[in-house]
Amino acid sequence: MGGTFDPIHHGHLVAASEVAARFELDEVVFVPTGQPWQKTSDPGRKVSEAEHRYLMTVIATAANPRFTVSRVDIERPGLTYTIDTLRDLRRLRPEADLFFITGADAMAQIMSWKDSDELWSLAHFVGVTRPGHVLDDAGRKDVSLLEVPAMAISSTDCRNRVASHHPVWYLVPDGVVQYIGKYGLYQDK
Ligand code: ATP
Ligand code: MG
Repeated sequence: MGGTFDPIHHGHLVAASEVAARFELDEVVFVPTGQPWQKTSDPGRKVSEAEHRYLMTVIATAANPRFTVSRVDIERPGLTYTIDTLRDLRRLRPEADLFFITGADAMAQIMSWKDSDELWSLAHFVGVTRPGHVLDDAGRKDVSLLEVPAMAISSTDCRNRVASHHPVWYLVPDGVVQYIGKYGLYQDK
C-alpha cells in the first residue's frame, strides 16, 4: 500500500486490514512515498520530511505482525512513481504475488495514467471505497473492488486540525498523535 502518509491515519489502516483479510495476504507492506509527483506539482502543498512520515508509519503499524514498512520509495532519488515502487518490490520479492491497495480517489488517478499498462502486469490492483469518492474499475477485469467500513478521515484534514489546535485523537493512532506533538508537525497552515 503506497501513500504519502502525512500523517498515516485509521482510514489507511482499516483499508489495509480489510484487504489483507479478504485476499488472505501474508503481509501488507506500507510504502511511504519520497516526493510524490502529483503533490510536488501543487505549490500549496508542502510534504513533510520523508523520515517523519516513515517513522509515523512504523509507529502506526508496529503492533500488527502482518504489517511492515518499506523504505524503497524514500531511498530512491527523485520523484516517486508507482511503477518504480512495484518494480522494486518485485525485484526484492521475486516469489511474491503482489497486490496494490488504493483508495477510490487514487484508483481513479491510476486509471488515467498514460503508461499504466505495465502497472497492471506488476500487481493485482485492489480499489477500496472511500467516503466522497466514486469507486470504479472502468470495466477492467484485473482490478478488484472492495467495500470497506467508511472512514471519513484524510491526512489533509488531520494536518488542518493540528494547525487549528483541534484534536486528532482517534483519527490517527495514539503514538502518531504523540509523535506529531513531539516534533511540532503541521503547526502552520
Ligand atoms: P492527503 O489528504 O494528504 O492526500 P490521504 O488521506 O488521501 O492524504 P494518502 O497518503 O494520500 O492519504 O493515501 C494513501 C492511500 O490510502 C491512497 O490510495 C488513498 O486513496 C488511501 N486512503 C486514504 N484515506 C483513506 C480512507 N479514509 N479510506 C480509504 N482509503 C483511503
Ligand atoms: Mg491523498
